Amino acid sequence: MSFSSFHGNSETVRQIREMLARERFPHGVVLAGPAGSGKYTLATMVARAVNCLDQPTTDGLPDYCGRCSNCLRIAQLEDLESRVAEAVEARDGLKEAEKKETRLFIQTHPDVLVIPPDPPQMMIKVDQVRRVIESIYFRPSEGKERVFIFTDAAFMKEAANSLLKVLEEPPEFATIFLLAENAGELLPTIRSRAL
Ligand SMILES: [Zn+2]
Repeated sequence: MSFSSFHGNSETVRQIREMLARERFPHGVVLAGPAGSGKYTLATMVARAVNCLDQPTTDGLPDYCGRCSNCLRIAQLEDLESRVAEAVEARDGLKEAEKKETRLFIQTHPDVLVIPPDPPQMMIKVDQVRRVIESIYFRPSEGKERVFIFTDAAFMKEAANSLLKVLEEPPEFATIFLLAENAGELLPTIRSRAL
């Protein structure tokens, strides 16, 4: 596995890898594109590249090895649908009171957190953003960068406002990905702060 296995917009991939080469990856990145365009896969590839323990260079740009412990664990995020289904099933098994307070997250590596829209409303909720805020200032434990991936642009209003606060002052070692089918879906303020 490497960036060469990405079957999508090669220009976007090149730009992202050039940003990686500069070693100052932006703290907020919006990846917009239709469903199935690979934006989630690309975000997990970047999470691997920034945390790879044996980072190779291909075509003169940073890549990831796909074999180290960080690459392997982050790769487990790839099948998003299955991971979300497992998280929903785990929550359904909880007691009624706990169920209400449990928000959906997907984590296969301590430094990479995926935040999917929370059913049944299928929106990102304020408690999910709060968890990001609570954890974002901790230094990476096993990788080099903490990566947060919001898989959908449907934010509850309060959640969007909380996110703006983190985007104002993110720690130097964290990157937040916002995935959207259309960048226009995001509040204009989030859009302008994220890139
Ligand atoms: Zn690796």
